Amino acid sequence: MKRITSAEVRQSFLDFFAERGHTVVPSASLVPSDDPTLLFTNAGMNQFKDVFLGLGERTYVRAVDTQKCMRVSGKHNDLDDVGRDGTHHTFFEMLGNWSFGDYYKKEAIGWAWELLTGVWKLPADRIWASVFEDDEGDLGPDDEAGGYWRSETAISPEHVVYFGRKDNFWEMAETGPCGPCSEIHYDRGPEACTCKNVPGHVCRVNGECGRFVELWNLVFIQYNKDAQGALEALPARHVDTGAGLERLAAVLQGVDSNYKTDLFQPIIRRVQKMTGHSDEEVESNIVAYRVIADHGRAIAFLVSDGVLPGNEGRNYVLRMVLRRAARFGRKLGFDQPFLTEVVKTVIDTMGPHFPELEARRPFILTTIGQEEERFLRTLDLGLARLDEALLALEGEGVDTVPGEVAFRLYDTFGLPLEITRDVAGERDFGVDEAGYEAALENQRQMAHSAGGFEVADEETLKRYRSLLDDLQSEGLLPEEGVRHDPYTGTDVETSIAAILRDGRRVKTAKVEDEVEIVLPETSFYVQSGGQVSDAGFITARVPQAEGGPAADSETVEPAWEIEVTDVQEPIPGLIVHIGAVKRGKPRVGEEAWAAVDFERRLDIARNHTATHLLHSELRYILGEHVQQAGSLVTPDRLRFDFTHSAMLTEDELAAVNRSVNDAILMNYPVDVGHQSYRSAVEDGVIALFGEKYGDEVRVIRVGWEDEPFSQELCGGTHVSETGAIGLFQIVSEQGVAAGVRRIEAVTGRAALQLVERQMGVLQRAAAYLGASPDEVDRRALALLEELQAARKEIAELQKGQAKRDFEALAEQVQSVAGVSLLSARVTVASMDMLREMSDWFRERIGSGVVVLGAVVGDRPAIVAAVTSDLVSRGIDARKLIKPLARQVGGGGGGRAALAQAGGRDAGKLDIALGQAPDVLEDLLASAAPGAAGA
Ligand SMILES: [Zn+2]
Ligand SMILES: [Zn+2]
Repeated sequence: MKRITSAEVRQSFLDFFAERGHTVVPSASLVPSDDPTLLFTNAGMNQFKDVFLGLGERTYVRAVDTQKCMRVSGKHNDLDDVGRDGTHHTFFEMLGNWSFGDYYKKEAIGWAWELLTGVWKLPADRIWASVFEDDEGDLGPDDEAGGYWRSETAISPEHVVYFGRKDNFWEMAETGPCGPCSEIHYDRGPEACTCKNVPGHVCRVNGECGRFVELWNLVFIQYNKDAQGALEALPARHVDTGAGLERLAAVLQGVDSNYKTDLFQPIIRRVQKMTGHSDEEVESNIVAYRVIADHGRAIAFLVSDGVLPGNEGRNYVLRMVLRRAARFGRKLGFDQPFLTEVVKTVIDTMGPHFPELEARRPFILTTIGQEEERFLRTLDLGLARLDEALLALEGEGVDTVPGEVAFRLYDTFGLPLEITRDVAGERDFGVDEAGYEAALENQRQMAHSAGGFEVADEETLKRYRSLLDDLQSEGLLPEEGVRHDPYTGTDVETSIAAILRDGRRVKTAKVEDEVEIVLPETSFYVQSGGQVSDAGFITARVPQAEGGPAADSETVEPAWEIEVTDVQEPIPGLIVHIGAVKRGKPRVGEEAWAAVDFERRLDIARNHTATHLLHSELRYILGEHVQQAGSLVTPDRLRFDFTHSAMLTEDELAAVNRSVNDAILMNYPVDVGHQSYRSAVEDGVIALFGEKYGDEVRVIRVGWEDEPFSQELCGGTHVSETGAIGLFQIVSEQGVAAGVRRIEAVTGRAALQLVERQMGVLQRAAAYLGASPDEVDRRALALLEELQAARKEIAELQKGQAKRDFEALAEQVQSVAGVSLLSARVTVASMDMLREMSDWFRERIGSGVVVLGAVVGDRPAIVAAVTSDLVSRGIDARKLIKPLARQVGGGGGGRAALAQAGGRDAGKLDIALGQAPDVLEDLLASAAPGAAGA
């Protein structure tokens, strides 16, 4: 019989539930779009969390999907297990079917049974089901689920087994939605037992051996848990199921390790082909092969979801996983980069179901190839240092690598802690990870590292969550949360639902209070997709005259006014306007007029639409490899990061600048459309990283309808015609990371200001030069040349003058204990000239000492030079100059033959020079033969 492929397993799961009224939903990105508490999407339910919390809605009540998941914290030892057995992974797929207040236990259990035994033909007598029975509270057994297992399936009654809260009760968090679950386990037969030699061992569900494996978890969400731990029945009950594709494929393909399925085998075979290993050699290096296969999948998917290698948060996890794979490659004998070959196989295998892999193939391969190369350049150095450290520790009888050492290896050689731990572990060393974390934290604080991944404080989120609950139950906010429409207008007439001061609800606020304001409805844009939040005002609504025309709001001053400087959505459904009271006393419940600063919004819209034009032109001029890697849209400027390996030439930059302006002059219409994500991708719409692959997406099209110039998925605000952008001007281009360039530009008013300012500078420069603006550059160049020639001439003249001065000075030589000394003040323009004069003197006199002083700028400068015969007699120019330098309030240094000093007090220069004979006499006395020994 032909073995079912993993692609068929995935597809048959989706089809089975689609036939039963489920909407097939695409996987959400690995980067959670609106959950700041989560590093990576790690379960199928992440993208539906808002539905379970009662904050969001979908257009469907039944859904089915396969979700890309990533489980690795970047901190704990959870990576250690990957590769050591056949079941642990960093990246995996979770199949799930969902009911949002629709069907419940009966259907979920019946369908699971039908799919497993009817469609996939798993033998019924191998299937076991665990059901919840409360062992801590008073919920009793879940007889509902137990009953449906008996009535809806042909399972052996003794295969339905009961477990308590630890195994069979699911909670989203400490509080919130929760409920019993029912797990489906598969009996792989007595031969699969891994505890045959353990005395008294009995194989069982949730036991310690490998015989029973959990295939599928059916979660029944029916309670809400409050802070006291009390459970309250939910009005709507939900089904949330999860079945790991890798394990399911292993069972259906009859293999005893996930790595033996066709999800991993093509990758392992590809690596084998590169190493030239025999099958036996693969077996003896199986840990390395598994790690590379697992990590290869993880890095391909992470990069395709927009994560770039870096030192913080998600970016660090990618770097660490990639480097770990590279190091295991070393173990297999690779001494050249090889991961792009691995990743190509991943894209070939997974691309058919995950089109984002195929669409970003060049970007993924370039990113991974560059990072691996960079790492390999320093890996050997790092490993050698680690080796030295381990040898030294061994000598000292220490068995733990100090945290500081592990950190230095990471900081200097890019050796991730995980690799240090691996290598140390192989030689029976531990690593002081707390010490490592402390050193890392220390550096972070010193670097004031900005822009990293910050997990929002769970306490704060909880406070906002209960605020939202309270406002909804008090009827101050709509059931679905704040009504938010930043697109159709920039002001709304509404009322104040809540005022927060220092995070606490207050009834009223006074002038200068810093407040957060919640309104039932708002048109303020909340920062997202790189576009910053709106600013504006919330004011008292001016009452309309009874029966008459509306009062003229221009002339009537509102009773109170709040200036909004930021807007945030801390949790879905709750929007807070952050600002300060400027006038009067706003009160909860009062009518309000909330208006976005329109001019500012328009500036932002110009920059946002221009960003799309820039993106499109960069792809046209530089090539399709250009992908957005980051974007910031503010009222003042736009910043666009994109993948491109070389600095842009002057010609390329000029071409980009010109064509964006051409597109502005064409006055293309900007259309906003809504369509399904899939159809958008089919239309060739540029899908950006981190977009939520929800069902319906918003598409911004610029250009004529039949021939769009640019089309992107985007939630931002835009101008309606490109002409409104006015003018676009690039202000800088630079590299920000390997393979990523950054362009900053201005548009509209800011571009106009830039042009006006620079034109002004040019006009003034032209006036100073007595030229027309067009001649400024040539005139400036000519002047520069003239200036250089004049300076050279002056230097010559000064030198001639100094020479003449020197001749006169030579007359002033005195004898100090038989040694010739010249101590004099001269007029020179530089310290160099002073030194040169001392050279002339040494040449002229043959044997002697010279001390010359001058005021250079407005500071005193002194040079002391000693001829070599005197140096060998122990006369040191540095000792000579020291007391003189002190006299002018400074210090000096140099060599025995030539020392120089600077000071602050030019007025004391003559006194200092006058001391030279005495100082020299002392030096001669102490250096004289016999004197030293006396
Ligand atoms: Zn067993
Ligand atoms: Zn956009």
